[in-house]
Amino acid sequence: MISSNLVNNNGILYFNGISVLDLVKEYGTGMYVMDEERIREKCRAYQDALHKAFGNNAKAYYASKAASFKRIYEIVQEEGMGVDVVSLGEIYTAMKAGFDLKDAAFHSNNKTDEDIRYAMEHGIGCFVVDNKEELDAINDIASSMGKKQNVLLRLTPGIDPHTFAAVATGRVDSKFGSSIETGQAEEMALHALTLTNVNLKGFHCHVGSQVFDSDVYIDSAKIMLAFIALMKQKHGFVTEVLDLGGGFGVRYTEDDPYLDIAKEIERLSVCIKEECASHGIAVPFIAMEPGRSIVADAGITLYTVGTVKRITGYKNYVSIDGGMTDNPRFALYKSKYTVYLANKMDEENDFECSVVGRCCESGDIIQENVKLPSSVKRGDIVCVCTTGAYNYAMASNYNRIPRLPVVMVSHGKSYLAVRRESLDDIVRNDL
Ligand SMILES: *Cc1c(COP(=O)(O)O)cnc(C)c1O
Repeated sequence: MISSNLVNNNGILYFNGISVLDLVKEYGTGMYVMDEERIREKCRAYQDALHKAFGNNAKAYYASKAASFKRIYEIVQEEGMGVDVVSLGEIYTAMKAGFDLKDAAFHSNNKTDEDIRYAMEHGIGCFVVDNKEELDAINDIASSMGKKQNVLLRLTPGIDPHTFAAVATGRVDSKFGSSIETGQAEEMALHALTLTNVNLKGFHCHVGSQVFDSDVYIDSAKIMLAFIALMKQKHGFVTEVLDLGGGFGVRYTEDDPYLDIAKEIERLSVCIKEECASHGIAVPFIAMEPGRSIVADAGITLYTVGTVKRITGYKNYVSIDGGMTDNPRFALYKSKYTVYLANKMDEENDFECSVVGRCCESGDIIQENVKLPSSVKRGDIVCVCTTGAYNYAMASNYNRIPRLPVVMVSHGKSYLAVRRESLDDIVRNDL
């Protein structure tokens, strides 16, 4: 099984101890299901490894864009993590969940004045500032509110993490951050130090996503620490915080490697301590921002099979009651997924097909070249694995299709975290 919480029990798929057929009976399809214990396990993997390496001088921030709804913020807060937010919608959701915004960092490459003011009014812990214009806007707004705002500057260390181009963000030509290589980073840091209403706490980088090679983090940490050392030697500036971003990979298919979060963080921490020693600087507070790796493999999506189309000599299609509206990742990135026929787990998977959605788009595909039992027919249940990240978060109402519910499973019980959208929700804003 692709995920540790999935088990084949006499031909029926069980998720964290519950038959998915029972879940389907109770909540209907399509639906997202998430394993609360698995989310907590992942939070602890990061927190424990960081604390082991750096004591209290480190913290993990959940990058909540991966899956943002109230329950997630509650869980993450209970686990002692901070959060990253990228919009007022995420800030508002976090606040509604009772999340203390002093443990939130506000990202995005283009924060509006409204964004900045709102976040500051509600006590955001820190801004991760993308560029000089934004830095000035934050300083002005902080000044008008009589505040001194903590900021980190987002830098691009100039690393290509060998992942899909759309999720690579650390290169010099990225739309995110300021480049160390071009001197822009140093310029921006010096400019920040001249501003009276921002408090420059340190530096941030995020090199990409779905990264399996911790050398990528080690390389970027080395570049960032060299920059931090330069800022001290040349300008006497002592960096308090180094935020290394997110992006550890998860297993979508059997071909993806396993990644031991604790081991990778241990490796990274050894390098960070050595580099700091060799530069003669104190180890800064270390922040990491995992998103995908916290929630992805805690989630599955369940669908009911509708039309099965056999185009003899060409291709087979299995249509499900969902699609790019609840999982646009194949359409966007050609993302790979593992797909099971959840009620026929003992049958041979000898029928090659594309699992497709019900939207009016040829590109509305969940996965190509899937192998399912040849008996697949209307009414069967499809399980798409590892959908906990960037599925619900990227869902849309295209074709006026209501968004799916998110059901949580915990200690053998299920509960609703996000209810299914209704047809009334669909016309809610229509005047
Ligand atoms: C998206 C993002 C993350 C999380 O990336 P994952 O691949 O989901 O872990 C962390 N930090 C920043 C700045 C991001 O944009």
